[in-house]
Amino acid sequence: MSTHAGASTRFSSAVYADRLARSAAAAGEAGLDALLITPGPDLQYLLGSHAASFERLTCLVIPSNGDPASVVVPRLELAALNDSAVGELGLATVDWVDGVDPYSIVADGLPHPARVAVADAMPALHLVPLAASLGALPVLATDVLRELRMIKDNEEIEALRRAGQAIDRVHARMGEILVVGRTERQVEADITAAILEEGHTEAAFVIVGSGPHGADPHHEVSDRVIEKGDVVVIDIGGPVEPGYNSDCTRTYSMGEPHPDVAAKYAVLEEAQKAAVDLIRPGVTAEAIDAAARNVLAAQGLAEYFVHRTGHGIGLSVHEEPYIVEGNIDELAEGMAFSVEPGIYFRGEWGARIEDIVIVTAGGCEPVNVRPHGLTVLS
Ligand code: ZN
Ligand code: ZN
Ligand code: ZN
Repeated sequence: MSTHAGASTRFSSAVYADRLARSAAAAGEAGLDALLITPGPDLQYLLGSHAASFERLTCLVIPSNGDPASVVVPRLELAALNDSAVGELGLATVDWVDGVDPYSIVADGLPHPARVAVADAMPALHLVPLAASLGALPVLATDVLRELRMIKDNEEIEALRRAGQAIDRVHARMGEILVVGRTERQVEADITAAILEEGHTEAAFVIVGSGPHGADPHHEVSDRVIEKGDVVVIDIGGPVEPGYNSDCTRTYSMGEPHPDVAAKYAVLEEAQKAAVDLIRPGVTAEAIDAAARNVLAAQGLAEYFVHRTGHGIGLSVHEEPYIVEGNIDELAEGMAFSVEPGIYFRGEWGARIEDIVIVTAGGCEPVNVRPHGLTVLS
């Protein structure tokens, strides 16, 4: 059954026509003969297709020489392209049946050896035989598509806003869901239901890190019972149609926090704000990371912030740009990424504050607007 009620599962075909043309041009500039894109976020970006990857090859072929793009697809998967822009764009589909070598079909349309880039998500079971047919090892398409995918257009920004509003509504319900005496797993089940009820097509991740579990940034859930006095990290998100992700963390205190917790949390809140306040076009990604880190360092908390400050987001939950030391890429209008410093005290407690922001001409627009303070629940 479709769970996509109301929301469109893709943009208009003009959006995809533009993306195909720009990616073909980018492939040409990179000196490549073609882009070969199997199901995954890149195929969703280029065609609006939600198709999944299987052992039979489905592959969008985008030549750089101006020839039209086409899709090589197993006959029994043809229907899976129905939700994509393939039909409206009039792209040729080359269907194949079991017993045929689909890799040679792809290679036959290209020079030999062919210089191509493949989707990062292409499975090895396709990449290895494909490379043999092409006569050369492909490179990764991210290098060609990163500029395109990093700068969100207006439709994508609107989709990210909708995703942000949807996950904010889930956090707004935490007073009913996150209650002393319940287990992390019970809380997770209710959050998962709320994520779907508030308009996501899936709960991609639900982290409920209570008490000492909050000190593990990657803790998911357990049967631990939430106790009075716990600090609880809730990091949740998932896609809304047409596939753009939410990702938002808030930290809750079960009862009034210990003064030491409140004091350290206040520094974290200041660190997150310092990073957000610095965002504007032209500033480097690593400067945003440093802005958060320096506030924590000034209070002796730098060693407790054990991960990068953020990651890009869109059709993938984690994509470029990464907000991390060493990334000297400059921010540009239309980029979307998380700002999520955290502090983690092993065996005791942890906290993280995460918003998704979109870079604007003069600063940034957070798509998450729930209060940043330690929200006290009972
Ligand atoms: Zn869908
Ligand atoms: Zn998150
Ligand atoms: Zn995140």
